[in-house]
Amino acid sequence: QQESPHHLQDADSVKVLYRPRSLWMHKGQAGRGLLIGGIGHTAGAVLLASSAALRSGIGLLYTACGLRAAQALPVHRPEAIALDLNETDLPDLVSSLEPDAIAIGPGLGTSQASAELLNEILEYPIPTVLDADALNLIAKHRWLHRLGPNHLITPHPKEALRLFGQAKPFEFHQNLLKFSQSSKTVIAFKGRFTRIYTPEGIVWFNNSGNHGMATAGSGDVLTGVLLALLAAGYPVAQAARLGVWLHGAAGDAALLRLNSPESLIAGDIINHLHQAFHQL
Ligand code: AMP
Ligand code: MG
Repeated sequence: QQESPHHLQDADSVKVLYRPRSLWMHKGQAGRGLLIGGIGHTAGAVLLASSAALRSGIGLLYTACGLRAAQALPVHRPEAIALDLNETDLPDLVSSLEPDAIAIGPGLGTSQASAELLNEILEYPIPTVLDADALNLIAKHRWLHRLGPNHLITPHPKEALRLFGQAKPFEFHQNLLKFSQSSKTVIAFKGRFTRIYTPEGIVWFNNSGNHGMATAGSGDVLTGVLLALLAAGYPVAQAARLGVWLHGAAGDAALLRLNSPESLIAGDIINHLHQAFHQL
């Protein structure tokens, strides 16, 4: 009889993945991340993702974004390095920064200019989180075949539908499993129990998180957490598993504190990330 490929992911199953940082560590070893998004009027998404990455241990964070976000970021989060995409050549930036990981998507928009940025990013073999509008652009331009082992995609149900098309629930699940195995891409399919599909054919059902997290910007926080873990050097599937669990556990700590799922906002998840890390 074949062993079930479905596993429950709880605190104990992610604790073994966690690698505490060395007492001798300097910021260069904690990982350098490049976040791309926040184009046009949507600045909030990259601000949230930037804060989340910084609260998840990233050593250096470069946030490449539109003018409005580039002006807001130093006020909101001076620890991040804001770069105005209007004044930056992306290939130059990547070759000079040599980021350990990239995240692209929050507030990216789906314009032709954004598609060109994503088109460039998909060429790099660097561990990369693809979220939000990056996923919408991949669906729009039919770039799914370009995804590989360095990619982590984080669709919510609507984004997953755009990417993989409509199917009955079990069929849909099988499609994600098959896609992950054939492309070697890791999928975090977000929802009540976020499911992490790994290239070796295992699906982890994450059990942290709560209904208070059904709020604007919640997914952008996850993207920041995942960027930090990839930059720290966690292999893609491990970063996905640990990041999804931490994000949910931070949401649970926030709910415990606030006692009201209605009042929970994305910033509260960021403010409780330390409690999630503390549980590891
Ligand atoms: P997004 O839709 O991109 O903002 O992502 C929403 C985030 O919140 C994902 O990480 C979801 O897993 C999480 N989330 C949303 N609703 C719930 C829920 N009812 N229970 C647990 N987690 C949720
Ligand atoms: Mg989202």
